[in-house]
Amino acid sequence: MKKINIIGAGLAGCEAAWQLASRGIEVELFEMRDESRKTFAHRTKDFAELVCSNSLRCDDVTTAIGLLHQEMRELNSLIMRSADANKIPAGSALAVDREGFSKFIEQELLATKKVKISRREISELPLDSDEQWIIATGPLTSDLLSKSILHHSGEEHLAFFDAIAPIIFKDSIDFNIAWFQSRYDKGSGSDYINCPLNKSQYLEFVNDLQTAEKTEFKDWEKDTPYFDGCLPIEVMAVRGEDVLRYGPMKPVGLTNPHFPKSAEGVKLQDRPEKAYAIVQLRQDNKLGTIYNMVGFQTKLKYGEQEKIFRKIPGLAKAEFARLGGIHRNTFINSPKLLDEFLRFKKLPHIRFAGQVTGVEGYVESAAMGLLAGIFCAAEVKSAPNSKTAIGALLQHITCGHEGINFQPMNVNFGLFAPLEEKIKKADRKAAYSGRALAELRNWSQSL
Ligand SMILES: Cc1cc2nc3c(=O)[nH]c(=O)nc-3n(C[C@H](O)[C@H](O)[C@H](O)COP(=O)(O)OP(=O)(O)OC[C@H]3O[C@@H](n4cnc5c(N)ncnc54)[C@H](O)[C@@H]3O)c2cc1C
Repeated sequence: MKKINIIGAGLAGCEAAWQLASRGIEVELFEMRDESRKTFAHRTKDFAELVCSNSLRCDDVTTAIGLLHQEMRELNSLIMRSADANKIPAGSALAVDREGFSKFIEQELLATKKVKISRREISELPLDSDEQWIIATGPLTSDLLSKSILHHSGEEHLAFFDAIAPIIFKDSIDFNIAWFQSRYDKGSGSDYINCPLNKSQYLEFVNDLQTAEKTEFKDWEKDTPYFDGCLPIEVMAVRGEDVLRYGPMKPVGLTNPHFPKSAEGVKLQDRPEKAYAIVQLRQDNKLGTIYNMVGFQTKLKYGEQEKIFRKIPGLAKAEFARLGGIHRNTFINSPKLLDEFLRFKKLPHIRFAGQVTGVEGYVESAAMGLLAGIFCAAEVKSAPNSKTAIGALLQHITCGHEGINFQPMNVNFGLFAPLEEKIKKADRKAAYSGRALAELRNWSQSL
């Protein structure tokens, strides 16, 4: 087999290189960082540098991320082996000694004698190459390569602030208060979940947003413009009391079915079925298990988000699959551009892996590197299915999302195929995990 080229020696690139090299395949790994060149977030030239926290999050197999850890271990992940070897005490989280973590990965890759390291930037997509390539250049893909990817993807944007709106598990929403309906009954008539606020609830909400603690932009983020139409809600709240009510929270075209239709003698705006403002949630995956808060991109601190959003009627017990956030990122519209084996549809000798595919997080990025490596190594007949954590993530970015306003995603149970049987809530996570590991073993035996 011809050598495989990988751009980026981050979490995804290193994992992909390992999957190939450990199968005896030659790899050339291109990394632009060296003694003198770094990125805005990388401080070293180390492989798989953890740019921020040193935690790979919860290691409990009954959480979605812990399950992903375990699946990756079973698929011989180098990232997970290094994390386990360099683990430091952190309760149920898998935290690592970051230097040891990177060194272990570098040594293991070099020990295979199959990996050639080339310290240079690749500035263009390798259009005419007769070799296979994996692009694993991460959220801080160099400007030149970003431009080349953008040009060949036919998309309008690639690098921008993530306008990440919070995502909520549907089964944690109170439908005694909320209801399904599209504005003016458009589409199917019930595409959105609506949460109504009366005037005093709305005013308190606006005040909360104005006064809540926000995360600050880093210096290098200050010049990056907001993505079109993606102003954080707290910025809108500061611009005026009514800005949200005339923007993402406008209460028009909706009728609250929990109240009688007529309320004679009551002033229009005080009628209970006429909410003063509405929070809408839109389905975020094909399964319909998770919903995003429409127009609610925010850089409020996580604790503040949970506190303030749970005050919204209907969301008192909301469980968040992901909280909102805004930071500069580079990712492609994978549902539109990639096939189920992470191949760039236009140029199938090129695969994408890692955060640039629209997954979010160290482990998720490494997981997509792992799959890209396996897919490159041999003709694989089927990808892992969405009963597994790794397959659920893959399917979300390649075909589970509508592709419109695609935003980066952490692994979470909302992405999984629903359980076949009804299982009580307390046992559900363990059931997901048991089923996932059995499915994963079947898949890995089929390779
Ligand atoms: C500021 C910031 C903080 C983050 N904090 C966390 C966190 O705390 N926890 C978490 O789970 N996730 C975090 N993430 C998200 C994400 O999981 C990490 O960025 C993760 O490192 C992504 O892995 P990756 O392999 O896709 O990309 P990276 O690990 O970034 O690897 C990409 C590599 O490609 C190289 N490269 C880029 N362009 C080129 C080119 N043209 N030619 C050659 N090499 C190139 C880069 O130098 C880099 O080494 C953070 C992201 C950012 C931007």
